[in-house]
Amino acid sequence: MSDRSDLDVVIVGAGFAGLFMLHRVRGLGFSARVIEAGDGVGGTWYWNRYPGARCDIESMQYSYQFSEALQQEWEWSERYASQPEILAYANHVADRFELRPDIQFETRVQSASYDEPACRWTIVTDRGDALSARFLVMATGCLSSARIPDFPGLASFTGPTYHTGRWPHEGVDFTGQRVGVIGTGSSGIQSIPIIAREARELVVFQRTASYSVPAHNGPIDDDERRAIKADYAAFRARNLQTATAVGSRLPMGETSALAVTPEERQKVYEERWEQGGLQFLGAYIDLLIDPNANDTAAEFVRTKIADVVGDPELAARLTPKTVIGCKRLCVDTGYFETFNRDNVELVDVSETPIGEITAGGLRIGAARFRVRCHRVRDRFRRDDRRAAQHRHPRSRRAVAPGRLGCGPAHPSWPRRGRVPEPVHDLGARQPVGAHDMIVSIEQHVNWIADCIAYLRDHQYAAIEATPDAQDAWVDWVNMIADFTLFPSCNSWYLGANVPGKPARVHAPDRLSRVRREVRRRRREGLRGFRAVAGCDLAGAA
Ligand SMILES: Cc1cc2nc3c(=O)[nH]c(=O)nc-3n(C[C@H](O)[C@H](O)[C@H](O)COP(=O)(O)OP(=O)(O)OC[C@H]3O[C@@H](n4cnc5c(N)ncnc54)[C@H](O)[C@@H]3O)c2cc1C
Repeated sequence: MSDRSDLDVVIVGAGFAGLFMLHRVRGLGFSARVIEAGDGVGGTWYWNRYPGARCDIESMQYSYQFSEALQQEWEWSERYASQPEILAYANHVADRFELRPDIQFETRVQSASYDEPACRWTIVTDRGDALSARFLVMATGCLSSARIPDFPGLASFTGPTYHTGRWPHEGVDFTGQRVGVIGTGSSGIQSIPIIAREARELVVFQRTASYSVPAHNGPIDDDERRAIKADYAAFRARNLQTATAVGSRLPMGETSALAVTPEERQKVYEERWEQGGLQFLGAYIDLLIDPNANDTAAEFVRTKIADVVGDPELAARLTPKTVIGCKRLCVDTGYFETFNRDNVELVDVSETPIGEITAGGLRIGAARFRVRCHRVRDRFRRDDRRAAQHRHPRSRRAVAPGRLGCGPAHPSWPRRGRVPEPVHDLGARQPVGAHDMIVSIEQHVNWIADCIAYLRDHQYAAIEATPDAQDAWVDWVNMIADFTLFPSCNSWYLGANVPGKPARVHAPDRLSRVRREVRRRRREGLRGFRAVAGCDLAGAA
């Protein structure tokens, strides 16, 4: 660990974004340090160690593209990588690129303040360090903060409780236990089948039924792996042309679901169902645009649930009635089948919510469930920025016109009653959630690194997005969002899992189009930005 406290760049977070950011800025000749709360790298995949935690993007795609040598040497074993394998990959990247000496683990950034005349950030950590840096990059992810629900009486529960996002490293043995799982989003859907096999009894508390498609996970075929590696760039380019860059095996549909006969549709949906994974929603071009088209896919999945779940009344409770895909579609292995087990009970808390956690269970309306309850919770709070003390809706909403915040300092903001804004990776109004996030991470990191180098090379102190450009970007995102079905349901894409958070759609367009738009704006130089001169940067790298 370098003992320099006068760094060029401080990066918060050692997930995929922070690791690549460190690699990039070091390559540009900057001194840098990553501050990470956990005691290892991997971010999301360091914290989320719950049973069944797994990527729902195909592993050959959910990986970095910046190094061809890395792509060639790393061998994914399964179609969808498990959490331990992704964590091993993150550790491999940290070792291969010798990143660890510049990462400070088990340290949480508590605050950051910007000294305008000096053009430097002071970053204070929970260890009492005060680091000084010219640039501050928040690579804190958008799902890294575990949101503990505020059920009355939670602290009075006498059994052990767990949160999927803070799972014990040593694992949990549920053998012979009576377990309660609260939540049936993606983490619940991944963990429930596994917990059900171990536990004596499992009670699942469901507020909202989720759509899920089968993963059909398994070992990656050697021929397939060889074929992809023979031209990895072409594989990446093909994926980028799909709506979500998820690693589709089937091309994006180009017609409307309503332009074909019901028989043809059924055939296409069956084929996608058999292939498995998120590519199901790529069957037709208008599934996330036209409610009637969407309903054909939703109805197909509803029928599948009814086919799998033996008891029709139970199947009805597990069947979502809403638009499919407006919340992130889940990918499962045996989720609906699990409810056919004798040791699994589903409790619907949609109309009568959980009222109270008691010493030995929980109370729902008048009913009381005595559960020696292991609570597995699958909701996450977006935008963990509390620590940096920069929660400002306006500045977050409009990080930059090109959706990438390059505002390491913002001298004019305090005068306008705003706060200086560090650079955010995966920040507000960016295409997170519905996509392969590593694709976006690489793009954002590259943009931020290039921007920082630009400031250095041109002797600028800072850069800020102009209010007009911010508004134009937000209008563009909103215009596209309004064209889709994303705003039609309460989802974490909108921040609806956080009470009181204003609904804000993240860029929902195809990644390829978002990237084109960013490239176009970049070719136009600093249009939409104002570069700020100010400091004597002679000492900068
Ligand atoms: C259960 C789960 C499954 C997922 N599955 C997929 C998937 O299938 N496909 C997909 O594309 N994406 C998926 N994601 C999203 C995933 O978060 C991203 O793909 C990616 O890993 C984000 O990387 P990141 O580096 O931006 O952030 P993170 O991985 O979230 O890393 C952020 C890091 O910042 C650290 N940090 C935060 N605040 C502070 C602070 N104040 N001080 C110090 N350190 C701090 C955290 O400890 C964390 O290590 C999933 C997320 C979860 C939670």
